[in-house]
Amino acid sequence: MFTRQNRSNLYLIAVVAILLIATIIFLGIRSNNEAKNIVEQQFTSQQLLLNQQISRGIEEFLNEKILLIEIIAKQESKVPPDFFKSNFKTIYEESSGFFAIQYVNESGTIVSGYPEENLPLGYNLFENNRSSAFETVQKSKETYISDVVQMFEGELGLFIWVPLFIEGEFKGTILSIIKVSDVTDRFLKNYSSSGHVYLIDKSGIILYDNSNELQLNKNYLNTTDEINLQQGTIFQKQINGTEGIGNFFETSENGDRVKCIVTYSPIRWRNQIWSVGITNPVSNVDSLIHSVYVKQGAFIVLSGIFILTGSMWIILLLSKWNKILEEEVAYKTYEIKQSNELLRSANIKLKEVDQLKTEFVSMVSHELRTPLSAMKTSAEFLKEDNCNSSVKAEMLELIIRNIDRQTRMVGDLLDISRIESGKIRFNPEITDLHEIVNLSVKNVYSLSKEKDITIHVNLPKDLPSVRTDKDKLIQVFVNLLNNAIKFTPTGGNVEISSVEFNNFLEMRIKDTGIGIAPDHVDKIFDKFYQIDSTSTRKVGGSGLGLSIIKGIIEGQGGTIRVESTPHVGTTFIFTLGK
Ligand code: ADP
Repeated sequence: MFTRQNRSNLYLIAVVAILLIATIIFLGIRSNNEAKNIVEQQFTSQQLLLNQQISRGIEEFLNEKILLIEIIAKQESKVPPDFFKSNFKTIYEESSGFFAIQYVNESGTIVSGYPEENLPLGYNLFENNRSSAFETVQKSKETYISDVVQMFEGELGLFIWVPLFIEGEFKGTILSIIKVSDVTDRFLKNYSSSGHVYLIDKSGIILYDNSNELQLNKNYLNTTDEINLQQGTIFQKQINGTEGIGNFFETSENGDRVKCIVTYSPIRWRNQIWSVGITNPVSNVDSLIHSVYVKQGAFIVLSGIFILTGSMWIILLLSKWNKILEEEVAYKTYEIKQSNELLRSANIKLKEVDQLKTEFVSMVSHELRTPLSAMKTSAEFLKEDNCNSSVKAEMLELIIRNIDRQTRMVGDLLDISRIESGKIRFNPEITDLHEIVNLSVKNVYSLSKEKDITIHVNLPKDLPSVRTDKDKLIQVFVNLLNNAIKFTPTGGNVEISSVEFNNFLEMRIKDTGIGIAPDHVDKIFDKFYQIDSTSTRKVGGSGLGLSIIKGIIEGQGGTIRVESTPHVGTTFIFTLGK
């Protein structure tokens, strides 16, 4: 199916197809990575945004609580201490989130508060060695939040100390307590996005972790464990109050190291800094991008199929074109061979014509010179004084015959040139064939007598007349009869007969002569063609007779052909229209 050229095309196209597919795969992988990076970035910034929202929420919640207490503390300057209880109750009930709000008098004893069941009334801070925050507030005269501590109830709690000064005199503090779990339940427990969320305070202690992966109340800052070290580094940034994105590796259940994205955002409230962190394994991003991979894979496969099909199609098209081209070349080669063949035979023909011309020139010279020398000899005889009258008559007869012979020769030359130039004119008239045949036979009678040849005329009496040029038809008969007599040995026979058809008559002139060899039969109608063209031939002639006859017959719409058997005889057959 494939030629060498096609095969090299095939290889070329296959290489191009493979390169295209490789490029698509390369670009696909590159764009995959780019898409992965973009999705990862988007995912991370979304996570950070969510992280910020959570932190802002907690921050506002805690600051609001402080503000409420501080407002009461300011008002207390004008009201007696009994007022605390009712005010604390109002705040406790209207602003949810407080575990207890209590008044600690200037000597450090808890004297009142709300709700009573959460109050250790009469508890003295100094006696229990827990007065440091109290003293700090007294000194700084500013709200102070102590680090998260374990409460009596075992839960983690945060203590907000607001100082109380009446007319510049320290009157104790309002201590409000918020359970860490109240904050985390409100803001972190319902966190439902992927990954896990955790909360640490400024010492790096875990206050909350929804996945329980980190140990509550534990500090990871000073760990030596490699994995927790990364976590510790991130924690360090968190307790510095920065906001950001980071990565760390955690060990999955089956022992693999899983890369995680972590975002963190601080919660600033007075002297405290907390930080909320959210972590997510990178595989979560991969699952998001998975559908993009599937689509890209499908695209690559489809492109590959498309390129391969396209390449096959191009190869088939090329081989088809090649085939068409080859056929065209073969056809053109055949045409060139044909025209070469034609040229070759035309060349042979030309050579033959040239040869014929040479022969013709020598023949014409011979044919012209022979009568001329005869005439010259006769004329010299006539010049002699002693020439008697019978010799004179014979000489004159000889001269006349030779003049006729030359006239015929010149006539033949003129005829053939008229036929060839298409200038021959016919004068058709209704012609009685009996009359024409009789005249023609008479014309050759003496010649036939000389060779003792009998001419048989076998024509039906009711032979229909034909419309033809009389003189030219006589010329045809005379010529054919002359040839028949010329080429028939002494004592032979010549027969003129006819066959009638619907629209035409067929005339036949048959002799019992030497016949014509098959390889000459096709050529005898060519001008100047003589089977024996040597000057030593027995019979004279110009080789023009038959071509003139052909021109006359065909010029009037007839045909002429010959049938001959060597040494048996020849029949010339021509048609005449009725
Ligand atoms: P030419 O004037 O030489 O006879 P033609 O054209 O009449 O020329 O004839 C061409 C050749 O055909 C002759 O030279 C002869 O060889 C051959 N030919 C013509 N008629 C006959 C015939 N009846 N029998 C045999 N050969 C013939």
